[in-house]
Amino acid sequence: MCRPMHDDGRDRVDIAIVGAGAAGLAAGIFAAEAAAGTVLRIVLLDSARTIGAKILISGGGRCNVTHESVHPEDFSSLCGTKPVIRNILAAFTERATREWFASLEVELKREESGKLFPVTDKARTILKALTDRCQALKVPIWTQHRVLEVHPSNGNGFLVLHEQGTLPARLVILATGGKSLPRSGSDGHGWKIVQGLGHKVTSTYPALVPLLLEDRLFHASLTGLSQQTEVTTLVDGKVVDRRSGSLLWTHFGVSGPVVMDTSRFWTIAHADGKPVEVRCNFWPGVNREEAERRLIEQVKGRPKLALSKLLAQQIPERLAEALCRACDIDPESKAGQLGRASRRTLVEALTGLVLPVRRDRGWNYAEVTAGGVPLEEINFRTMESRIRPGLYLIGEMLDCDGRIGGFNFQWAWATGYLAGRGAAAAFAVSGQTPQTGGP
Ligand SMILES: Cc1cc2nc3c(=O)[nH]c(=O)nc-3n(C[C@H](O)[C@H](O)[C@H](O)COP(=O)(O)OP(=O)(O)OC[C@H]3O[C@@H](n4cnc5c(N)ncnc54)[C@H](O)[C@@H]3O)c2cc1C
Repeated sequence: MCRPMHDDGRDRVDIAIVGAGAAGLAAGIFAAEAAAGTVLRIVLLDSARTIGAKILISGGGRCNVTHESVHPEDFSSLCGTKPVIRNILAAFTERATREWFASLEVELKREESGKLFPVTDKARTILKALTDRCQALKVPIWTQHRVLEVHPSNGNGFLVLHEQGTLPARLVILATGGKSLPRSGSDGHGWKIVQGLGHKVTSTYPALVPLLLEDRLFHASLTGLSQQTEVTTLVDGKVVDRRSGSLLWTHFGVSGPVVMDTSRFWTIAHADGKPVEVRCNFWPGVNREEAERRLIEQVKGRPKLALSKLLAQQIPERLAEALCRACDIDPESKAGQLGRASRRTLVEALTGLVLPVRRDRGWNYAEVTAGGVPLEEINFRTMESRIRPGLYLIGEMLDCDGRIGGFNFQWAWATGYLAGRGAAAAFAVSGQTPQTGGP
């Protein structure tokens, strides 16, 4: 990693990018490419000793770079700013991501789920391509440079106060991430910096996070088992989210894509003190009445079969046994012996089991943050702040979170692209110093 040659506060850079994660690296590359042939000085500062922790652990170490099909509906924000999200995604599409990585000599492959990964199946391929490109473009990455504050400098850019000194910068791109996985370096300090510059920050919540269940449920006995499940979240008795996907039982509770995607609705409602319920339908797409009708048919056809074996036609047998026991029904009993009341209880559990959620697994296990800087405070064409000209905000620190599947990296690349190009263009437009710093 490049080390600073002059970092004693005497040097001025044109663009200081705070945070060398996915969004910051993209911004550095696109800014330098847009400024090719000029003498713009661009530098990335990061608090970490070695950068890219989150990229390296992403996608189980394989980095799910993007998805074959990206839509605004794959994202959520607390402030409900879908048109802004749509415009940002349209400016740098999943196709642009593929082409960009191809230009960096990274071949991507599409998996059945639509997720795109490097063909090497190694996240390091992605990180190396990005840092190599920074090096080729002479964009240094100053590691162990935690930024403490950013101050406007009399309408003439900014002063970036970091743990090793002060850096005057004409423009600043903040890409400090959210609060997920704080040991990676994203500990939420970036929000304090933007608040100091006049921005709002919404409440923030762990998202894409596993859920811990009360010990009274059977989850621990099913550890490692997964199956397709339709999960419905109700807040104040109203359905706020319904989705299907793979649910994974664990020793602490539930995880897997459908639970991770659901979690933001639970964490937000719970933190806001609202009554929230997460219900599982283990027979996705089949409602209670239909499930009961089908169960009656099945029982008629195989009355002597053990109940758990009969249910195993729809769900894993271990789950069938656990559900029977949770309903005080012997899973070994003959299907034909199932009385009406027990059948109803069983069908209720099969199609609408309420998960006794104790809490989420916390920031250390959250993949992303829900909430952040409201998108209406940003010019979506350039990611420049509407509050503080010359400041650009990108990536996870913004109030936008994607579902599992490569959408959060797509957001990082897209916002990094817009800010990098936007910041470089600010110099091209004015021919020299852009107007910055003032509110
Ligand atoms: C376990 C896990 C797996 C994931 N898998 C995927 C996946 O496969 N696909 C996907 O799309 N998304 C995935 N994500 C989400 C994705 O990693 C993030 O959405 C994305 O990394 C956000 O990029 P960012 O650049 O905005 O923030 P970050 O990646 O968090 O980068 C922020 C950078 O800023 C630095 N920084 C923070 N504060 C300061 C400061 N004050 N001064 C200087 N530097 C600072 C940090 O050290 C860090 O390097 C995963 C996340 C996790 C935790």
